Parts: sequence; structure tokens; C-alpha cells
Amino acid sequence: MLERKVNAVVLRSVDYRESDRILTLLSPDCGKLTAAARGCRRLKSPLLSCSQPFCYAEFVLAPLMGKWTVRQCALKESFYDLRLHYPRLTAAAAALREAEAAAPEDQPAKQLFLLVYCALSFWAYAENPATDLLLCFLLKLLALSGYLPATTRCGVCGQSTYKNARFDADLGALCASCGALRGGIPTAPLTLEAMRRMIALPEQDMKKVALPGAVRRELLAVLPGYYLHRTGRGKELKGLLEGLANMEARPE
Ligand SMILES: [Zn+2]
Repeated sequence: MLERKVNAVVLRSVDYRESDRILTLLSPDCGKLTAAARGCRRLKSPLLSCSQPFCYAEFVLAPLMGKWTVRQCALKESFYDLRLHYPRLTAAAAALREAEAAAPEDQPAKQLFLLVYCALSFWAYAENPATDLLLCFLLKLLALSGYLPATTRCGVCGQSTYKNARFDADLGALCASCGALRGGIPTAPLTLEAMRRMIALPEQDMKKVALPGAVRRELLAVLPGYYLHRTGRGKELKGLLEGLANMEARPE
């Protein structure tokens, strides 16, 4: 192991011993890495500003007994503003948990990094609903992880799902005849088209996602179940997304 320099977002930080933290980092070139930030909780530590979740920084990592230690860091972006608004903070924290679970260890993760970086910057600076950004994030994470749901074409037969479609927790959208056989939750064509568009949307444009109320409600009804079924994670996402949507529906 040689010293290495990585640009990374802090996905998680866990206090360790008296003044250390163990950081889980996501970098475009190396994927997920774990590194100890020694002494970072001391007030004057130069590592303090980069040792908390959401921070994007350049880290110089040095090997120590087979593990990485942060030797230096330079903060590039703290995404400070996302901490000022509870729904945005909640959505961003959920996104980091799912990104951590999906990230490959020690291999490139350029697309995942871009997704995380763009989503954090929009939770911090854009004005579209935090709920919609999280729904879009989860759909894109599913697609990246190889769990792309069927949307405007039936997941069984490939026919159009424009009329009387249902959404299946295993395959995604089903046409009327396949849905009649397998079941699933009735889903409007506009919702399926919104899913298709969000999956195809460049990450840099995620700030444009603002869903009509009816589409958001249908996505809340079908997406968490599909996500849980396919990834085996995120049992809490349904309640979390519904809570976020309710909070954002109230005038501040
Ligand atoms: Zn079909």
C-alpha cells in the first residue's frame, strides 16, 4: 500500500476512541474506502472540517498496519445548507446510507459518485422537493445496481403499459393482460413515464425533478416495495418517504 490522494464524499463517520473517527469515503476512482481520521475531534485538528458526513474533500491517505489513515485533507464542499432544512437533511442521510450499501469496495464508482455528488448539491442548493429528489435518486441507484424496473414497456411481454398497467415488486410495470395474471398495484401511465424519464435524466439535471402530486403518491405506493424486494434493503424507506412528503406538503 502506498500513500494515495483521493477526492471523496464522506458517507459515514463513526466516533472511535477518545478523539478519532472512522470515515467511510466514496471516491470516483476507488469506490468505497474506510480510513481513520486520528485526532480529528480535537478542536484544532486540521482534519475536523472534513470528517463529517456529506463533506466533499481531497484526502491524502497513508497506510498504517494494513489500514488507511487520513494524513491530510482539504475541504472542497461541505454542502452546509442541506443541514438547515430537516426534510433535505433526512433525504440526504437516507441517500448516503443506500449509496454506502450499494458502493463497490476499492474499485471505480464514477457513476455512483456523480449521482451522490449531484444529489447532495441539489439538496443543499436547489429548490425542488427533497422527496422528489430522493425518489429520483433511488430510481437511478436501482438502475446503476442492475435493478432497472420496467416502466413504459411490460416487464413480462414488452407490450405498452399505457392502459390499465400494474406495478409488480419484482419486474416493475406490467401491461393489462400480464397484470391480470400476476397482480400488482394499478399505476397510471404518467407515473410510469415519470419513472422512465427520471432514470434517463442526466444527474446534473436532477434539480428539475418536481413531480405532480398524483405521480408522487403513486411512486410512494410502488417504489419502496420494489426497492426492498430487489435490493433486500431499505425497509424504513416507505415510512421515511411518506413522512418527507407530508412535511413538504405543509406550508412553512
Ligand atoms: Zn405484458
